[in-house]
Amino acid sequence: SIDFKFIRENKEAIATNIQNRKCGGDVEQVVQLYEQSVSLNQEVDKLRAERNAIANAMKGKLDASRREELIEQGKQLKEQVSELEVELTMLQEKLQMEGQRIPNMTHPAVPIGSEDVATLRKEVGSQREFPFPVRDHVDLGLALDLFDFEAASEVSGTKFYYLKNEAVLLEMALINWTMSKLLPKGFTPLSTPDLIRSTVVEKCGFQPRGQNTQVYSVEGTDLCLAGTAEIPVGGMYMDSMLPESALPLKLLAYSHCFRTEAGAAGSATRGLYRVHQFSKVEMFVICRPDESDALHEELISLEEELYASLGLHFKTLDMSTEDLGAPAYRKYDVEAWMPGLGRYGEISSASNCTDYQSRRLNIRYRPAAAATSPAAPPPPKGKKVKASLPSPRFAHTLNATACAVPRMMIAILENNQQEDGSVVIPEVLRPFMGGIDVIRSK
Ligand code: AMP
Repeated sequence: SIDFKFIRENKEAIATNIQNRKCGGDVEQVVQLYEQSVSLNQEVDKLRAERNAIANAMKGKLDASRREELIEQGKQLKEQVSELEVELTMLQEKLQMEGQRIPNMTHPAVPIGSEDVATLRKEVGSQREFPFPVRDHVDLGLALDLFDFEAASEVSGTKFYYLKNEAVLLEMALINWTMSKLLPKGFTPLSTPDLIRSTVVEKCGFQPRGQNTQVYSVEGTDLCLAGTAEIPVGGMYMDSMLPESALPLKLLAYSHCFRTEAGAAGSATRGLYRVHQFSKVEMFVICRPDESDALHEELISLEEELYASLGLHFKTLDMSTEDLGAPAYRKYDVEAWMPGLGRYGEISSASNCTDYQSRRLNIRYRPAAAATSPAAPPPPKGKKVKASLPSPRFAHTLNATACAVPRMMIAILENNQQEDGSVVIPEVLRPFMGGIDVIRSK
């Protein structure tokens, strides 16, 4: 449930936030719709109470004409109530729709503005010097017989690919190595469904239909292809009430991701950089509100550890307001150096979504009963103390890419290329690909 009271009470801050994020959402309209729906609700309640009063009055002794009168009044009230109920339902649907467009609030440290003002959190390694002309991952991979884009284009369309030979082993090694590094940190592994109901997609803050949507939907059904494991994992805990002792809940999901990439024309399209389908390992955390900032730092540090172990040179950025999307309160992106592309490319993203998704998905927890303070006086003898359970609260959710396979593959192939066109496999991955240390031409 969206916190409309919060929206009404913080109208100005929300309008500024929308402006800073350059996203949709009309706070004035939402507040207006909310106030209309509150007063209509009160009106309906009042009429219902009148109807009840009439029904009660009818139980008593009445003369015939008074009874007639009351029956007539009751009838009129019934009609009025049902008309207003229809109006109220429509109003509430519109309120929900407009409310969905209001983005999450923003962490005060987030830089305000476009992508260019993102601030540097950390930099690891440096650009490798190549004493020979560098090739990009497409040239390298085709020469090493690792990809088939032509067949994929015939079979599925552009921006699809077949992986072949060592590239298949590299994909699996990346996934298994990532899992093996993160599972000891308290994550539960998951493999998730690819098809998701559009209502769940929406509750996670993604637009399932309409122009420019990134989401594929399956004609004739209400199903969509998941763009990220965040959706099926968040959905798994929809409408749940978790005990506080279960938090933080750390999940590590392996999934396929499908994206239409609508509106991505003009951006890097060669090879694996922007494709319609890819595999990914994703961290997802459900936690108490007071611990989400610290967990966000933990997730990004885990990512940084992984990428450093692979020998990549990368920068972690605190992304600016215009780059946050609707659900994130704060987002760190990791950009790795891709020498073939000649620039840094985003390889991962870690977001603290605070209660944005949990309110929509209805993920709550019940705080443990507060320990009685030792200073508190004992209850008077013979007097029963009413144990009051703390009321449920919305949890916070976070998501962070551990390994998005195609961009990892680009970074590894392009950074580890040798003059003869072979590619050295990072040491940590070798045991996960049968000991292969170098990919050579066949
Ligand atoms: P996102 O869920 O949009 O934050 O994306 C997570 C990560 O998935 C990105 O950092 C990229 O590494 C990767 N990614 C996103 N979109 C694509 C795509 N169309 N093709 C390949 N990799 C992608």
